[in-house]
Amino acid sequence: MEKLSNPSKTREIIEKYGFDFRKRFGQNFLVDTHVLERIIEAAQITEEDLVIEIGPGIGTLTQYLAEAAAKVVSIEIDRNLIPILEETLAGYDNVTVINQDVLKTDLNEIIREYGRRKEGGSGQSAEISDRRILCQDPADTGQETVSLRPVRIVANLPYYITTPILMGLFEKHIPAKSITVMVQKEVADRMQAEAGTKDYGSLSLAVQYYSRPHVEVEVPPRSFMPRPKVSSSVISLDIYETPPVKVEDEELFRNIVRAAFSQRRKTLVNALGNAALLSFSKEQVAAALKALGLPETIRGEVLTLEQFAALANRLGQETGR
Ligand code: SAM
Repeated sequence: MEKLSNPSKTREIIEKYGFDFRKRFGQNFLVDTHVLERIIEAAQITEEDLVIEIGPGIGTLTQYLAEAAAKVVSIEIDRNLIPILEETLAGYDNVTVINQDVLKTDLNEIIREYGRRKEGGSGQSAEISDRRILCQDPADTGQETVSLRPVRIVANLPYYITTPILMGLFEKHIPAKSITVMVQKEVADRMQAEAGTKDYGSLSLAVQYYSRPHVEVEVPPRSFMPRPKVSSSVISLDIYETPPVKVEDEELFRNIVRAAFSQRRKTLVNALGNAALLSFSKEQVAAALKALGLPETIRGEVLTLEQFAALANRLGQETGR
């Protein structure tokens, strides 16, 4: 079928199905061939890869992904889009659409289910699935010996849940090689921000603990239908096999970072010493900072990733966590 990246084709499909864009689902569909090609280039997909796409919309990016990857699994919350995807993806035998909320989807299970290398193709058209529980392979003895495809996550993300989606991918240790996503420009800036800058915060630290981020391209509102009010950026996150700093207890590390930035203007001693998420006294925090050679008056916004990791490890040791 003709590519959907052509705006008049997108309009034709929308009108044919009487589709109403839903703001609450962050529906801004890409209608810019150049941007779609840049996303595919940035994602470095090979024909060995399993790509997980979050929010296929009418399938515009999905078509490009299906041409580059071995297998694409696209997760879409809006059931009104499912009949449209049946039509737009009918020519691709390597796409499965799951009608589900990505925040309630077990992506590790999807990888186990769809990431196995298989010989040959099924020759069928795109499979549309709304299964809540994915089938277990009857031959699966629980001892995985099959090899899994490299996984890449690619999406034009719904902006209202960018942070929970990314945090979920990190915290659940989804074994992806890379994440290439369209996000609001200011969110991409926060992901790359360095200590001491105004954009630096818990998202910067989470992203930089798990991956090496780099902005690929800035995207103006006119590349979408309907046009969003904000500018966007495509950012690639190359996931580290081993994080760049050693953290003994990731949950404690996350809670310390969260507490430090929830009261950004406070000193770390006050922010961590008062935090409901933690159980440290101000004296313990002050002693840990002193042991690390940091002043008692320091604020979280100037601490680097290495320093946050060292602080979390130190506080964890003191309380025997
Ligand atoms: N990929 C398409 C494109 O580039 O044209 C659409 C991108 S649009 C910005 C975001 C898509 O995510 C929409 O199709 C929306 O319905 C879907 N979406 C929103 N919230 C979702 C959720 N919680 N789980 C899965 N999909 C979601």
